[in-house]
Amino acid sequence: MKFVDEYRDGDVAQLLARLIRQEAKPDRNYRLMEFCGGHTHAIFRFGIVDLMPDNVRFIHGPGCPVCVLPAGRIEAAIKLVEENDVILCTYADLMRVPAGKRDSLQKAKARGGDIRMVYSATDALAIAQANREKQVVFFAIGFETTTPPTAAVLKIANAMQLTNFSVFCNHVETPPAMMHILSAGEAKIDGILGPSHVSTIIGSQAYADCCDKYRVPLVIAGFEPLDVIQSVLMLVRQINAGEASVENQYTRAVSKGGNKKAQSLMAEVFEQRPLFEWRGLGVLPESAVQIRSEFADFDAEKRFGMQAIATADIKGCICPAVLRGMNNPDECKLFGTACTPEDPKGACMVSSEGACAAYYSYGRYR
Ligand code: SF4
Repeated sequence: MKFVDEYRDGDVAQLLARLIRQEAKPDRNYRLMEFCGGHTHAIFRFGIVDLMPDNVRFIHGPGCPVCVLPAGRIEAAIKLVEENDVILCTYADLMRVPAGKRDSLQKAKARGGDIRMVYSATDALAIAQANREKQVVFFAIGFETTTPPTAAVLKIANAMQLTNFSVFCNHVETPPAMMHILSAGEAKIDGILGPSHVSTIIGSQAYADCCDKYRVPLVIAGFEPLDVIQSVLMLVRQINAGEASVENQYTRAVSKGGNKKAQSLMAEVFEQRPLFEWRGLGVLPESAVQIRSEFADFDAEKRFGMQAIATADIKGCICPAVLRGMNNPDECKLFGTACTPEDPKGACMVSSEGACAAYYSYGRYR
């Protein structure tokens, strides 16, 4: 299959891995953070981790949109459904993420809440059009990849003067989170595998400040196995040369400036949110967006007076440390015992992009 098989050639993978083993200097470590959960899954699914020499290690980053949403925002959505006559539309992964007191959107649905799974923001809009007598709220989450579609439906809803539709905006931004992790310095990072999908929107240039300020090389990598292995080789070469620049391995999809149309759509509908709480990273300034006043009628937080509810993560769950690259999932005492994909105790085990789910799915036990 075009664009798939050609990036999964085993012989080429072995060749690239051999080059990495030859070029990685035995007297130093190469600690590479893959920011995006899609890469974490590719690394384990395709056995890439087994092709690496011992001194080339992957550190898992916070690039899973479901994982970084703090439980308090989910609690707020549950409260919204239980105290108002609304239909809440959300992506499937979010349904099972534990909120406070072992609650979840799935459990709220079982209690009678009208919570519906959707594949896109457009689906939520269609539900609003089909249910004019009810208020319909779209629980919007994700990085820059999913922000433009939310912006698009907000513009459509505005043009249609659809008074029963609103968005609970939880869209976050990649470069500020990356900057935070590098500035905190908790996880020693020698190089970064930059996200694929996000970079198609924001472009490779968006990471330049990160590389310059923290002297860390970054290679934007595609999701196929050869993309990842080649990107690792590119990082090893930059690290060996003492360089810290942005390189783009995923040239078939990512440009320097990104998708200008999507960027202007986002700028038209959203503005910087002064503060936003991330699971694991805490409250970060200017790391998320909120709906502009021109579209305030469609802002569920304003329409319903929503507020995040202070909620503790489940005892023993180390998701916050996993998201900061401090711990691997198999260092959690609950991993694979009390916490499994069937009965997740934390967001990182629920999401299809979560690091704990990747370890569990591909049998990475110590
Ligand atoms: Fe949390 Fe489960 Fe991951 Fe442990 S294994 S960090 S409990 S999601």
